Amino acid sequence: MSLKQLIGLDNRSEEYAFSRDDSTGYTSTRKIPATWVPTTCGYCSVGCGIEIGVKDGKAVSVRPHAAHPVNRGKLCPKGLSEHYTLEAENRAKYPLLKRNGKQVRVTWNEALHTLVERFRAVQTKYGKNALGVLSTGQLVTEEFYTLGKLVQLGFGTNNYDGNTTLCMASAVSGYKASFGSDGPPGAYEDLERADVVLLIGANIADNHPILCQYLDSNRNATVVVADPRVSKTAMMADLHLPLKPGSDLALMNGIAHILIRHNLVDREYIARHTNGFDALERFLDRYTPEHVSSITGLSEELIYKTALLYGRAKAGFIGWTMGVNHSTLGTETVNAICNLALLTGNLGRAGAAPFSITGQCNAMGTREVGFTSSMPGYRKFDNPTDRAELSTLWGIEEDRLPTARGLAYPDIVEAAVAKRIRGLWIIATNPLVSFPNQDVLRQAFSNLDFLVVQDGYHPTPTTELADLVLPAAIWGEKEGTFTNSERRVSKVNKAVEPPGEARTDYEIFLGVAERLGVRDQLYAGWRTVEDAFNEWRRVSKGRLCDYSGISYELLAAEAGVQWPFPEGSRDLSTSRLYTDGQFQTPDGRAKLICAEWKPFPEQPNREFPMILNTGRTVEHWHTGTKTRNVPILQRLSPSAWVEMNPRDARVLSLRSYDRVDLISRRGRVSGVELRLTEIIAPGQVFMPFHYAEMNVNEITQSAFDPVSREPNYKQCAVRVERSGVSQ
Ligand code: SF4
Repeated sequence: MSLKQLIGLDNRSEEYAFSRDDSTGYTSTRKIPATWVPTTCGYCSVGCGIEIGVKDGKAVSVRPHAAHPVNRGKLCPKGLSEHYTLEAENRAKYPLLKRNGKQVRVTWNEALHTLVERFRAVQTKYGKNALGVLSTGQLVTEEFYTLGKLVQLGFGTNNYDGNTTLCMASAVSGYKASFGSDGPPGAYEDLERADVVLLIGANIADNHPILCQYLDSNRNATVVVADPRVSKTAMMADLHLPLKPGSDLALMNGIAHILIRHNLVDREYIARHTNGFDALERFLDRYTPEHVSSITGLSEELIYKTALLYGRAKAGFIGWTMGVNHSTLGTETVNAICNLALLTGNLGRAGAAPFSITGQCNAMGTREVGFTSSMPGYRKFDNPTDRAELSTLWGIEEDRLPTARGLAYPDIVEAAVAKRIRGLWIIATNPLVSFPNQDVLRQAFSNLDFLVVQDGYHPTPTTELADLVLPAAIWGEKEGTFTNSERRVSKVNKAVEPPGEARTDYEIFLGVAERLGVRDQLYAGWRTVEDAFNEWRRVSKGRLCDYSGISYELLAAEAGVQWPFPEGSRDLSTSRLYTDGQFQTPDGRAKLICAEWKPFPEQPNREFPMILNTGRTVEHWHTGTKTRNVPILQRLSPSAWVEMNPRDARVLSLRSYDRVDLISRRGRVSGVELRLTEIIAPGQVFMPFHYAEMNVNEITQSAFDPVSREPNYKQCAVRVERSGVSQ
């Protein structure tokens, strides 16, 4: 309390004054803005249109963008409080350089000069690929495009990946194997037009809440949710499949088996548009309902019911998220999902799609402009035509393009442990909360010669360890575009100035390029992000993700436009991929893939008898860097908890609200609040991963999908003890 308040001269009347606002009605005067700036939500991949209310240079409120095609006038709790992320106390404001073990403020010039000098020294001493870059799904597409060129052509390392590998990589790998390219084929509208919706490992009610309104408006659909927990989404379902953890691939194969056996497949579609049916039919022989029942724990009747529902649907939609992706079998499970769509011709039509619901607001953008798992425009590293085309577009020698992808995220960490990576640049991500098996990451960091962390927030557990912290502008402070899960490109706009000396990531990348001596060569004439966008439009022209007909003017007029949108396009109605049954493979046919189920890597035993599942809650975003500094969200969900079935609690003599420790082979998380609930089945526990001070990733494991390299976050073996019993 201030002195004025203490002696009664200031009774905070301004804080409590209310007035009438044209759009929101009677409301707090402080929250009535002078202007509204349209933009796109900076959290999840649903991609809701949002407007930021600005008054006296500050963001004072938000409201849904009424004309945006995605959210139709609604926002979830995170979106409704997003303006608080801009004013958070932990915003990074100044470049900081570690000297004598202490991070001290330096000028931008010194910061960027030091970054280039230290990374060059690492590369000179240990080779070009001793530099690694870990980026994010949070930047605008223009920044990803700029960064990709800087890392691959400027620094000349292909050890560049993003935290999207912790999230969506299996969807990418699965689509590539089945359809020849990444790119979700369907649209949100399909949730409204399907007569059967099957959601697998997708708790959209918590993680993509605005999608629920599409389901709600489809009164004719039968909704089936496969999830080991009775999640909020499972509660919305007509049929809940409480399958055993890690058994979804077996379920997919079992459904395919029944579809073939009961001739519920589209033989004409299969003959015209796919390869591999005969081999798949033989392979699926062993996935009898009886066998699948023994793996999944579901009754044969339930498996049959699901298969017949999907097989008889006029339009069947399958959506999935992390329950599928966060697995050593993630890629293969995506293949098995795509098999179901291909077998039944549920693809390229209204209501019919195998649809990966993406994680972060612009995970899609980083996939499109690439250089992590593919080159820009989904071009392949090993395709001579793709390479020749890109080198011509950029006016560079072809041999400057990498011939293969570099190390994926977990392999960059492993390479740092092995001292093959010596310099690391982390951008807008917080691995010291999000990476599995944190001990390995700490070892990796301790081996580095130089760690740069570029983030909108400081301190975070990761920025605290940095040799150099670069303060970045965040959502609301910069311009560009995001692409959402349904391939819809929406405009991101600046409403307020970044705090202190923070700069946009775009400015930082161009500043690094300048000091590296590659700015004129790689970014000739670029000044604004629109320059990057316009080059990207040219580079994407003719590709599956064709942006050439999308301009900033069009995005301002239409709020969101789905790709592909080639130059000269006019049709803004919902678009889908593969409507003609032509896929991105050499012969235009999709592949039916035999994907064998295996038990998840770390099975429970006597010492660690329970299966730990991790996930999210609606109030928080990933590592909590943003949302835990939003007062209303933090009050709603202040600390971590663990869910346990009452039957297990009785055996362990535990009661609700007891404090417990979770212990795995890798470590312990202590003092977590216990919640007893039938939402979770006996033998399993669930814990959210947003809480740095009770970080569940201290105990998750280093097991990764062999193709996508996505971590197996969803299942590991643990035991639960009352806190304080043993250490
Ligand atoms: S659903 Fe996702 S995009 Fe929409 S408001 Fe919520 S966090 Fe933002």
